[in-house]
Amino acid sequence: MDHERRRFLRLGLVGTLAAAIPWKKGSAAAPMATPGASGPVILSTWDHGLAANQKAWEVLEKTGSVLDAVVEGVAVVESDLSNRSVGQGGSPDRDGHVTLDACVQDHEGHAGGVAFLEHFEHPIQIARAVMERTPHVLLVGEGAERWARENGFKERRIQVPEVQAAWKEWAKKAEYKPIVNRENHDTIGQIALDSKGLMAGSCTTSGMAYKVHGRVGDSPIIGAGLFVDGEAGAACATGTGELVIRIAGSHTVVELMRQGVAPEEACRQAVERILRRNPDLKGHQVGFLALRADGAHGAFSIYNGFTYALSTTEGHLLREAPFARRWEE
Ligand code: ASP
Repeated sequence: MDHERRRFLRLGLVGTLAAAIPWKKGSAAAPMATPGASGPVILSTWDHGLAANQKAWEVLEKTGSVLDAVVEGVAVVESDLSNRSVGQGGSPDRDGHVTLDACVQDHEGHAGGVAFLEHFEHPIQIARAVMERTPHVLLVGEGAERWARENGFKERRIQVPEVQAAWKEWAKKAEYKPIVNRENHDTIGQIALDSKGLMAGSCTTSGMAYKVHGRVGDSPIIGAGLFVDGEAGAACATGTGELVIRIAGSHTVVELMRQGVAPEEACRQAVERILRRNPDLKGHQVGFLALRADGAHGAFSIYNGFTYALSTTEGHLLREAPFARRWEE
């Protein structure tokens, strides 16, 4: 993919967003918005971020809630059974199970997540319910599934034949080697700022293809795959989750912005930290997106090819992030 590639889709987004957000959790008062913020701005990882951004923008216009927007935005990608890295169409683990991880965080840092979940179409909606209906942040596996059922989420037991066939082919080779190249990790992370200066973020994935059963990556972990602090900004990550967790990647990016580092530079410094700590690293992609509380934004990845969707009142745009290295073909 050409580094300079830019696709611009004008979709008639100019217009004012609905006013009045009903603030849901805890207090009667709305959280303090960021003075001088110039939203709406929505960023999402990879090409599928465009569909997620379009939906998020519609929801923001309709409900005025940036939290609704980031949840419903990524839910579109979860529903797409042709997507091999998000939702139930995702690639399975070593044992043939498609296991899903997701999290969400709001302007004030309230957070919810689920990990190692199998039988639900929308892990992101369950993550939001964990945030809003429990005193906890993260539920996993069987316990998360039981809690979801008890809380009105409907199970969906499906298998995608092509996915199972590809896994069977892979499983014929006795050697355990999860695939970590650029083809098979494409989590969707979405971070957003509304016109009143409120922020939220979401992240959802089927994780690394052919991982060990039980493996959880960065995506459902607050501070790793996603971090939102309305005072400073928001960040999300994609790529090899273990590398992101080890440096608390999204938290690192937001904290750098808090100290005055510009968004793209904050992403670059997080990538450089990964590269410094792993001098022999080859073939692992990691990409970060950053959105500052005033609407400034940026991205950076280890390798070329990390695309992201950017939505503003100007329209929806697909960009490729600046990078540290080029894939050797
Ligand atoms: N970060 C995800 C994980 O490690 C993979 C991805 O971005 O696709 O599970």
